[in-house]
This record gives sequence, C-alpha cells and structure tokens, in this order.
Amino acid sequence: MALVNCADCQTEMSNLALACPKCGRPNYVPAQPSAEPMRKVTVEDIDMPFFSMVAFMLKWGVATVPAILGLGMIWFFLGGFFASLVAHH
Ligand SMILES: [Zn+2]
Repeated sequence: MALVNCADCQTEMSNLALACPKCGRPNYVPAQPSAEPMRKVTVEDIDMPFFSMVAFMLKWGVATVPAILGLGMIWFFLGGFFASLVAHH
C-alpha cells in the first residue's frame, strides 16, 4: 500500500483508493484481466452447439430413415435389373 498524489488536486491518497477522497477524481486502477466476458462467451459457446447438435442429430436421424429406404429400393431394383440381364443370356 503506497500513497499517491491526486492528479487534479495533489491530495495524498492510497494507491488502492478508487477515487480521490477530496475531489472525487477516479484513481488509476491497473487493468485486471476481465474473466467475466470470457466466461460468458465460453458458456454460450458450450450451450449453443449442444442444443443445436441435438436438434441436428434429431433431424439427421429422421432424414436418414427415408434415405436408407430409398437406397434400399435403388439397390433392390438395380439388382433385379442386372439379374434379369444375366438371366436372358
Ligand atoms: Zn483529488
């Protein structure tokens, strides 16, 4: 703890004081690493992909069923087509 002089009125005050006790001029406070915004962004980054991923997987799961059925139909007809070609020979 040290004493500093106010830049406006030169009053001695603690360097830890937030403001000059005489004139109220805000004291210089060294910039501290602000973890609050970082933490907020991090939480949003974790929350957003989680719910969007769940919705994405649900949509993907629903969309996969007709896709697999369609692929099965294509393979079934292609297989029958080539089988009939082979049978004619
Ligand atoms: Zn002052």
